[in-house]
Amino acid sequence: MQHVSLTIADKLAFRPSMDKADILIAGAALNGLAAAVALAGPRALRPLDILILDQADPTKFARDSFDGRASAITASSRRMLEALGIWDEIAPHAEPMRDIIVTDSKPGAAARPALLHFGEGDHDGEASAYMVENRHLYAALLDAAIASPTIRLKTQARIASYDFGPGLARIATDAQDDAKGSLLIAADGRGSPARKAAGIETYGWSYDQSGIVTTVAHERPHGGRAEEHFLPSGPFAILPLTHDRSSLVWTERSEEALRIMALDDENFLAELSHRFGGHLGELSLAGPRHVYPLSMQIAKSFVGERLALIGDAAHVIHPIAGLGFNLGLRDVAALAESVSEAVKLGLDPGSGAVLETYARWRRFDTVMTAVATDGLTRLFSNDNSALRVVRGMGLRAAGSLGALKGFFMREAAGETGRLPKLLQGEAV
Ligand SMILES: Cc1cc2nc3c(=O)[nH]c(=O)nc-3n(C[C@H](O)[C@H](O)[C@H](O)COP(=O)(O)OP(=O)(O)OC[C@H]3O[C@@H](n4cnc5c(N)ncnc54)[C@H](O)[C@@H]3O)c2cc1C
Repeated sequence: MQHVSLTIADKLAFRPSMDKADILIAGAALNGLAAAVALAGPRALRPLDILILDQADPTKFARDSFDGRASAITASSRRMLEALGIWDEIAPHAEPMRDIIVTDSKPGAAARPALLHFGEGDHDGEASAYMVENRHLYAALLDAAIASPTIRLKTQARIASYDFGPGLARIATDAQDDAKGSLLIAADGRGSPARKAAGIETYGWSYDQSGIVTTVAHERPHGGRAEEHFLPSGPFAILPLTHDRSSLVWTERSEEALRIMALDDENFLAELSHRFGGHLGELSLAGPRHVYPLSMQIAKSFVGERLALIGDAAHVIHPIAGLGFNLGLRDVAALAESVSEAVKLGLDPGSGAVLETYARWRRFDTVMTAVATDGLTRLFSNDNSALRVVRGMGLRAAGSLGALKGFFMREAAGETGRLPKLLQGEAV
């Protein structure tokens, strides 16, 4: 008889029976991993068995690559990461935003007067947000998922087919590996194949803008100040990172963004410096460049039979206010609490009642945030001089009216609406 030596991967691929878990998660990027870690938390009756799959191999992402982005982590998102036990790993890489200024100016302007100014004292002495490079968020979430005895991570496993309900969700990968669970959580990004397979449509539009993302080092310290300069082509955000570095989100018309991306480092840096200004001294590139097309997209429903959408699979918003991943964490917190309550009562975590609770909880907050973000984007991505005057008046008013400013600060800190327990720093 011929002997065939099987690797572990072969054994997995040839597993004869269907894999089974309580919860299946499609996509192991930031939101999928956060959902896995939140759902695997301590539970009175029984722990949930979670299987998370990704077509890529996230375990191979070098800690200094991932997607090149950095995220503004709001105060409530930080409390959630603390409750999940991963903030300690992230904290050394988190730069508190002590100050946020907003200007409406032209590139290369000698002076950029601040139209709106939020100091640290505006939020009870607590930094309203922390800037963290996504690679550090990713590494901490991945470490927590790998350490959990109830999370299984399958990489290089592209889910190719989906079957929803009535009692179970079933999936199969390209390699004919199949699995079933009470609930499939789609954390598979803006093009979500799971959402499409369930026939859930989206509302939305493209902004014909792209966000160029990179990191720069500068001669002088930023002092924790975030700057949002509304330039004629779109917002140019300078976001403070650790060690005298800043993350840039530089918005341009998509065609112009491609031209800029094609420049060599020297010319790229020259264009960047012209927009950045000279207030932090000499600049140097301190990371790769990435470009992201910018759009607004909201799924018509956040749930289907045995299916919950989270993160970019459910909603994509313009990064103008840096809220996208924070919205994803709010989804994760609401879903984990809805599922957890059901499991504690011995109920099915993928039942229609659980999914309805989740969808109702998240719909209003998401739509309000998306509408506000879209309005800001349209108001500020236009060089019309009348609009420029209106912008100035609007921002000066917001800067001087305490109550309105308080509202903006709470929204930026993710503290409006009914907060799920995780966002208040409590376990579910
Ligand atoms: C320029 C820019 C700046 C931003 N800045 C901020 C900020 O400051 N603050 C903030 O909160 N947010 C910010 N965001 C938003 C934030 O980055 C995203 O909302 C977040 O990264 C989305 O994560 P996700 O896990 O939902 O999706 P994704 O990162 O898109 O991950 C989807 C995963 O699903 C996997 N997948 C897809 N299809 C399959 C399949 N068939 N089978 C298996 N796996 C599959 C993919 O491989 C991928 O790993 C910004 C966005 C942009 C574009």
